[in-house]
Amino acid sequence: MDFLSRKARSIAPYTAGEQLRDRTYVKLNTNENPYPPSPRVKQALLDMDADGLRRYPRPDAGLLRAAIAEKEGVSPENVFCGNGSDEVLALSFPAFFDADGAGACFADLTYSFYEVFAAFFGIPAKVVPLREDFTFDLAAMRAQDCQGYYIANPNAPTGIGIGRAEMEQFVRSVPEKIVILDEAYMDFFGESFVPLVKEYPNVLVVRTFSKSYALAGIRCGYAVGNASLIAGLFRMKDCFNSYPVDAVAEAVCAAAVGDRDYYAAATEKVIAERGRLTVALREMGFTVPESRANFLFAGRGRLGGKAIYEKLRSEGVLVRFWDRPLLRDFVRITVGSHEENDILLEKLNKILS
Ligand code: PMP
Repeated sequence: MDFLSRKARSIAPYTAGEQLRDRTYVKLNTNENPYPPSPRVKQALLDMDADGLRRYPRPDAGLLRAAIAEKEGVSPENVFCGNGSDEVLALSFPAFFDADGAGACFADLTYSFYEVFAAFFGIPAKVVPLREDFTFDLAAMRAQDCQGYYIANPNAPTGIGIGRAEMEQFVRSVPEKIVILDEAYMDFFGESFVPLVKEYPNVLVVRTFSKSYALAGIRCGYAVGNASLIAGLFRMKDCFNSYPVDAVAEAVCAAAVGDRDYYAAATEKVIAERGRLTVALREMGFTVPESRANFLFAGRGRLGGKAIYEKLRSEGVLVRFWDRPLLRDFVRITVGSHEENDILLEKLNKILS
């Protein structure tokens, strides 16, 4: 007897990057930060009152929303927090799209969770190919009949970014449609749309603590946008999980948001290493689009992504590979620390010779 629903039987779930523990790897496969979180995070953990954990956390993550609002220059009513930006993105589908509507539009090569969410919520997906050079074809997206858009900026897994001015032009051209900007990697680019959200009630910016804040383990993400969009997310949250941000996550993330100097310095280091790796990989014959994120999308013609992935793995270096059209010639390599990147380059040199 099969008790699974048709959906549970047939849906193709998202596959997260490997979290292997069989040996110590140089782990460059899930775009984590090579540097630790702010010392204020450690202090916040030490200051936690363990007895207080018998209480439920704030259902609205009010303390964290206030901290984020202050940092982003908006009001708390413009901020929503969830269990990772994945959850915020998930809730955005039923909040802004109808199953019998014109659908959600996104690129063919982008964060692959969008198509999973669309399938899960039964929302039509309008998929638009990237251009040959992996840049977004915003004109083709604009021409789609849809209820709104998902744009990862910078895009994953290519790392390609859209500047604020070009994004504003796009957003302005589709005032009747919602534009969800997934800025998971934006701190490594510095062209966030957040300063403009007040002017565009159709824009929701989604951000995460997992990457530039070096807090992937805490599972927290947030959205910034018009209060009515935020209220829509709250309605969906309260149909699903009343307390998506736990008490530890709330305290830790609020502490992290306050330490701008620390994170600015860590982000600068990642950006510098990204530049060094890009040059080194290109000198080795890799094709590497200009990345604005904390990872590189690298291919080396006939060698193929799978061979690179497997050989690096046997050398103790994990990168990400997808056995899918458009992706299988490439691997995605997270920018590590200087030492980790040296190991990566040394192993690649060995493999290529
Ligand atoms: N958006 C993009 C583009 C991502 O690559 C990721 C990380 N897998 C996420 C969102 C989700 O990140 P998290 O749930 O850790 O906030």
